[in-house]
Amino acid sequence: MRPQLLSSLVFAFGISSILADSHPKDVAARLSKELIPQLSKGASISSEGPPRWSTFKAPKPAVVVNVACENDVSITVKYLGFADIPFLAQNGGNGWATTFDLGKNGVLINLAQLNKFVVSADKKQATIGGGIHINDTIAAADAAGVIVQTGNCNCLGTLGAYLGGGYGNTLGFLSFGIDNIVSLKVVLASGKMVTASASSNPDLFWAMKGAGPNFGIVTSAVIKAFPTTPAERSAWAGALIYSADKLERVVQAVEELVLKPHMVIYIYFVSQGPPTNAPMLMVTPFLYKGNAEAGKAAFASLYQIGPDVDTTTIVPYTSWNTGGDGFCTRGGRKPSYSVGMMKLVPSTWRKVWNLYTEFQKKPGAENSAILMESYSLGTAKSIPGSSASFPNRAVNYNSIVIAWYNDSALDKAAQAFGIAVRNAWRADDGLSKNNTYINFAHGDEPIEDVYGDSLQRLKKVKRRYDPDGKFDQWFDLS
Ligand SMILES: Cc1cc2nc3c(=O)[nH]c(=O)nc-3n(C[C@H](O)[C@H](O)[C@H](O)COP(=O)(O)OP(=O)(O)OC[C@H]3O[C@@H](n4cnc5c(N)ncnc54)[C@H](O)[C@@H]3O)c2cc1C
Repeated sequence: MRPQLLSSLVFAFGISSILADSHPKDVAARLSKELIPQLSKGASISSEGPPRWSTFKAPKPAVVVNVACENDVSITVKYLGFADIPFLAQNGGNGWATTFDLGKNGVLINLAQLNKFVVSADKKQATIGGGIHINDTIAAADAAGVIVQTGNCNCLGTLGAYLGGGYGNTLGFLSFGIDNIVSLKVVLASGKMVTASASSNPDLFWAMKGAGPNFGIVTSAVIKAFPTTPAERSAWAGALIYSADKLERVVQAVEELVLKPHMVIYIYFVSQGPPTNAPMLMVTPFLYKGNAEAGKAAFASLYQIGPDVDTTTIVPYTSWNTGGDGFCTRGGRKPSYSVGMMKLVPSTWRKVWNLYTEFQKKPGAENSAILMESYSLGTAKSIPGSSASFPNRAVNYNSIVIAWYNDSALDKAAQAFGIAVRNAWRADDGLSKNNTYINFAHGDEPIEDVYGDSLQRLKKVKRRYDPDGKFDQWFDLS
């Protein structure tokens, strides 16, 4: 750091020495004394942040800074950079990667209060806060008479999902989250706040759209919004449950299904719930603006197999994600692994079913789950791949295995289970090299698997915008 800058920061913050090696309690005391007075009125520090989705290898901060406005982020990052303290922004707290390491005195920057959602007068854009969650995003969008692209679970940070790519029910016609970003306000490692857009810092904009957490903290974003009538804010969706002997037919039907832009389909292996907790094969079709007749026609091949249970119905926009609320449950250990795939092979899915039922029957592991997501990709593929660093535009399917339990004694078995399932999927994923969506990756993959062909350019942009690797918690590019 240049001496002049250092002395101005000492002056600005009154920091008398570097804090990196201090005791965590000292860090909290120093932050209270030196940082908090610089922040806006609603900012505070606490010893714990909002609970995370998984406690497995979760980041453990010594101190949490609860920022209250965008400028607070800038001041906090500048302070922590000068004090040489590792830090991490938290939005929805769902990131399950094992790459987080805050050391003994790292700081979590809790973005929860940055939760605005403001629609433009023509309803074609919305400005969203860097800490808004999907449930609040959808509620505000619905109230404003628009739809916006989001992920499919209410608990996610809207931008947490976007910055890695952003899959969601409207992907078939609105494309990925990244393709809906107009501009980002980003706090860089220096604490400077810049705009990233097609015309301002375009290389940063490209990098943020797929590898965002490596470059800065997004304090707000302008995203596309789509004005709609109430009837246009509904879908036909629900669950079809099959007996396990129909697995191969279900997988083959999903593989052969040609998804039109308004269609989405997931396959799940989940527990039926207490008292039996028996494993269950479930498929969830989704048809934007659909009704029972249109839905049954669109997913006819799945109906022909004969589901035992059918809960499909017309669902308003504000309830599209409700089915996933159980999946959002906070806490518990949930090591998760994922694979991108070009094809689904029924015999592989039988192997995975067998691995799943073997692990899921262990006492305490009943809630473990497997899921496979499939979206219509035509609209997404029509957008040039060079517009964003996200490398997965052409990957047909993403499959995820989640071992879910509370007792750390199950860790070893859980990891062996997750890796065995991942290996089975990879054996015939139809890809020439491994490809894992960064937001679903475990953290043990080589970074080539998550950044693909964007890796070298990302490293170059990283050297320019974060030369000291301050943003090093999420599949580090330094
Ligand atoms: C229950 C569940 C459902 C999911 N469903 C979907 C889905 O439908 N679609 C999909 O694409 N993915 C989905 N995911 C994956 C999800 O996109 C990632 O877990 C994502 O990283 C979560 O973001 P978050 O803000 O909730 O988590 P966090 O742990 O808070 O953030 C994850 C990473 O993003 C960074 N980050 C978050 N916000 C910002 C910001 N404003 N500026 C800079 N960096 C930021 C954090 O620092 C961290 O490195 C799901 C995950 C779970 C657990």
